[in-house]
Amino acid sequence: MARIVIAGGGIAGIACALAAARAGHEAVVLEQAGAFEEVGAGIQMGPNGRRALEALGAWDAVAASVVYPEGIRIRRARDGAGLGRLPARGAFEARFGSTYQLIHRADLLAGLIEAAQAQGGITLRTGFQVREYKTCHDSVMVESVTAENLSGDLLIGADGIRSTVRARLLADGPPVFAGHILYRALVDITSVPDMVDKANVNLWLHKGGHVVHYPVSGGRKFNIVAAVNESWDGKRLNEPSRADILRKVFADVAAPLRALLDIPDTWLRWIGADRKPAARWGAGPVTLAGDAAHPTLPYLASGAVMALEDAVVLGRELAQNADMEKALRTYETARQPRTARIVKSSHRLAAVYHAGNPLAFFRDRMIRLTFGAHGLERMAWLYSWRP
Ligand SMILES: Cc1cc2nc3c(=O)[nH]c(=O)nc-3n(C[C@H](O)[C@H](O)[C@H](O)COP(=O)(O)OP(=O)(O)OC[C@H]3O[C@@H](n4cnc5c(N)ncnc54)[C@H](O)[C@@H]3O)c2cc1C
Repeated sequence: MARIVIAGGGIAGIACALAAARAGHEAVVLEQAGAFEEVGAGIQMGPNGRRALEALGAWDAVAASVVYPEGIRIRRARDGAGLGRLPARGAFEARFGSTYQLIHRADLLAGLIEAAQAQGGITLRTGFQVREYKTCHDSVMVESVTAENLSGDLLIGADGIRSTVRARLLADGPPVFAGHILYRALVDITSVPDMVDKANVNLWLHKGGHVVHYPVSGGRKFNIVAAVNESWDGKRLNEPSRADILRKVFADVAAPLRALLDIPDTWLRWIGADRKPAARWGAGPVTLAGDAAHPTLPYLASGAVMALEDAVVLGRELAQNADMEKALRTYETARQPRTARIVKSSHRLAAVYHAGNPLAFFRDRMIRLTFGAHGLERMAWLYSWRP
């Protein structure tokens, strides 16, 4: 039995701990914050994410707060015209063997923690900010910012897009700002007027920005994310802010979208950033998972889902290999091509989503032509993943 130290207690960190414990190992999660809690965004989760949660034994713990949309609608923001719709039940379920689901990040994390506590063999520590690690023969020593040391056989850096473990391991600089700022808001569903579609995920495309909205938290809350082309002023992220820019970018849009954007008093700002996929993200007893390994723009709605898939594959390799370092290398090799494709595809969507004419004209035509009959097949590479 190996002792596996995990830096970061987000979705990737807790999921990896669960996977490691289910593979018969001891896991220690080190989270810098004072509590395991998350603010902010909703998470869309395809059948692949659900299958990963089932493989981790965590699906039952999150299922109660999941919302099942009827479909995913793509609309032109200017006039609300429908460009394409993907059903998320019926034909979708028949094609992919499972539904599409919506969940708040806090509910997903709480479900993973509940499953981790029920599993046993997992220590969850808060207030431990990893500053540095050192490898020595076949073990690894982690040091906190308060100079506390902790050792293990393996280290998994699941410490997010600004990963300290990645910086030490790959030294490849900060993530790359994509020129988009994301504004997130969560409102009571009772405050959303009837003219806004609450049964589907809605994606509104506009020149210079786009908006996504859908219900979460068992249908009690409504999640809104607006992304706009904007430079980053270096101000702190994830703190409530006014979003006057949304009124400018989306000044001339269809009434339901305009009404929706007027509801939140404040928004949480986040920068849109990613990295070119790394060819490898491990060495010796150290590897990465989740955003630390493959940070992505959220436009394929797959960052958290990739983290869950990572955990499943890592757990499988840890269970099958007596040689722990070999298990890490096999995990990285298995995950690199798929995560690279998702990161690159999300990056390409960024330009397409915010296009003005003439590109927007051709984009809308393409969506109309391909999303109807062929929509499900177009998404098969993403949603068909199985553990
Ligand atoms: C607006 C928006 C919408 C999104 N929508 C979706 C979606 O629909 N579907 C989807 O699948 N994904 C979505 N994502 C992406 C998803 O939220 C992320 O990919 C996912 O949360 C990454 O999880 P993670 O655990 O790798 O990283 P994080 O959630 O960033 O967790 C990292 C954890 O590590 C801790 N940490 C950091 N540094 C240290 C350190 N030095 N020592 C100890 N602890 C440390 C942090 O406090 C944090 O708890 C969205 C993202 C955004 C911004």
